[in-house]
Amino acid sequence: MYKLRLLSAFLLATLATESMAQKIVIAHRGASGYLPEHTLEAKAMAYAMGADYIEQDVVMTADDQLIVLHDITLDRTTNVDEVFPNRARDDGRYYAIDFTLEEIRRLTATEGFRINENGEKQQGYANRFPMGTSTFSVPTLQEEIELIQGLNKSTGKDIGIYPEIKQPAFHRNEGKDISTAVVRMLKEYGYTTKQDKVFLQTFDFDELWKIHEEIFPAEGVDVNLIQLIGDPDDYPWMFEDDGMKKLSFAADGIGPSHGLVIDRSSKKGDIMVTGLVSAAHASGLQVHPYTYRTDPGQIPGYADSFEELLELHYFLADVDGLFTDFPDRAVNFLDSKD
Ligand code: CA
Repeated sequence: MYKLRLLSAFLLATLATESMAQKIVIAHRGASGYLPEHTLEAKAMAYAMGADYIEQDVVMTADDQLIVLHDITLDRTTNVDEVFPNRARDDGRYYAIDFTLEEIRRLTATEGFRINENGEKQQGYANRFPMGTSTFSVPTLQEEIELIQGLNKSTGKDIGIYPEIKQPAFHRNEGKDISTAVVRMLKEYGYTTKQDKVFLQTFDFDELWKIHEEIFPAEGVDVNLIQLIGDPDDYPWMFEDDGMKKLSFAADGIGPSHGLVIDRSSKKGDIMVTGLVSAAHASGLQVHPYTYRTDPGQIPGYADSFEELLELHYFLADVDGLFTDFPDRAVNFLDSKD
């Protein structure tokens, strides 16, 4: 009896260590807290910082090339307005889908900015890499996969990719099947099974279902799928009792906004963990919330520091991984728990 108990305690400790070791850090748009988002430089930095997965947002160009860009427009993160001043649509926005890859290669990528009330460019996060300095470009998905696979070869590590299909309905409306193109690119680079180091993500459940039911079987691919969840009103059924169960027929995990994991109105000593993580886990779904940032105003009032925020989400709420612009901080935090 005594021996059995010892063994159980040992097994429990082993299991706890293993489950801890499995918690992952996803570099959100690369090490985007330090270098302009979705540049190869930001991805190399995230890789060097020890992220487990590196994220790509993917949109399509006029000539059907896949580029890594967060928005379907080029406005916020390039100098498109200076290089092609007459190419905006009626809404004043410059859509990547209206430009060829060759044209996009003539743009300079930069730290993200917005146009302020005086009509001036003002960078989104004041403490980050200075807008408009040095020289960066918008990479293709292929270039980025080759960067990460190249680093995997030269370092001997096996760091994963985490591509998001951006606004698939918009792309379909423009006559482009971006999902099939992304899945074919994954296949070309050897990402074909759930054992391969890739999570494919989208906010659009109809598209996720289509990928699972039609595109994967057609292409002979079956990689891990993540349903992103922003506004709970988008898909109220996901928050019903059987919502995660239904989702698990197609998805392997969810990527919720972190306010859906710990309620943003939580206070110190009164942390409100929602039922989302336990519901997801009960249906076999992994949980990778977004986006954890250290910038001023980005740490919710219920946490005293970024590390406390990570502690609460990784270990109180028990998420399996998280998206952060500051992957070094999350890697160091998880290392400190080993
Ligand atoms: Ca994304």
